[in-house]
Amino acid sequence: MDLQLKDKIVFVTGGGKGIGSGISIALAREEAVPIILSRSAITADFKENLEKYTNNYEFIKIDLNEADKIKPIVDDIAKRHGSIYGIVNNAGANDNKDLESTSWQEFEKSLHGNLTHYYELVHSAVQYLKDSHGSILNITSKTALTGQGKTSAYAAAKGAILGLTREWASALAKDHVRSNAVVVSECWTPLYANWIKTFDDPETRKKIITDKIPYEHRFTTIEEIADMAVFVLSPVSSHTTAQWIFVDGGYVHLDRALT
Ligand code: NAP
Repeated sequence: MDLQLKDKIVFVTGGGKGIGSGISIALAREEAVPIILSRSAITADFKENLEKYTNNYEFIKIDLNEADKIKPIVDDIAKRHGSIYGIVNNAGANDNKDLESTSWQEFEKSLHGNLTHYYELVHSAVQYLKDSHGSILNITSKTALTGQGKTSAYAAAKGAILGLTREWASALAKDHVRSNAVVVSECWTPLYANWIKTFDDPETRKKIITDKIPYEHRFTTIEEIADMAVFVLSPVSSHTTAQWIFVDGGYVHLDRALT
């Protein structure tokens, strides 16, 4: 299926690693132009994979916590490329700021790291999105809906992202700009691999988790998230807006006691 993304300019935050890297590659496969915003440099492996599909991409090194730096980048990209079609807000991390030991200052700092740049990127690009009848895709987490027990700030940020997805869909419907979210539960990425290492027995922990994923008892792959994200972002999904789409093997909605 042609997703009608050819030559369309799409920002992907955290687009060089994990889920974001899958989204950048899926966009490149559709001949879109990924503009990757990320804190760490891209790896040689990722570059090689991406360049199998395109040389027409940009990598911009930025710590998105420095939110003042976002607008000048957006304006520069719009000026040089002539338009902006899409925003994929993806960068983030579960930092386990729990209820009992986290001060409000640490809570606010964590919200800043997981939420403020989602807002600022869309805020900075909104006129360009209106001009192109563009599309917003927010990556968020099941913790917004299920909690996780030890991560107040992350769960709050991810819940706010669900709210913003609907708020932006409402605010921009008259301008033909769509806004959707993909909700991730358990997807094997570098972030996830590091998190699992924090348990005493990571292999046992992995099995406990996958046993509870109703469909096929396995992790979601990066490609499964990326394919859905790019489809929903694309003009082919022309009447889909305000949706929270769960790519999670039924983790959030099905009975986890299913065998
Ligand atoms: P990942 O493997 O760590 O990749 C995330 C990328 O985003 C990394 O390159 C990271 O840079 C970058 N990044 C994070 N914060 C940034 C910032 N402030 N400025 C610039 N770049 C930043 O993570 P992932 O597992 O793919 O997660 C992607 C998204 O999915 C996140 O929003 C996460 O909350 C969500 N999610 C993931 C899962 C899962 O199972 N993996 C589940 C639920 C939700 P560094 O390498 O420098 O850190």
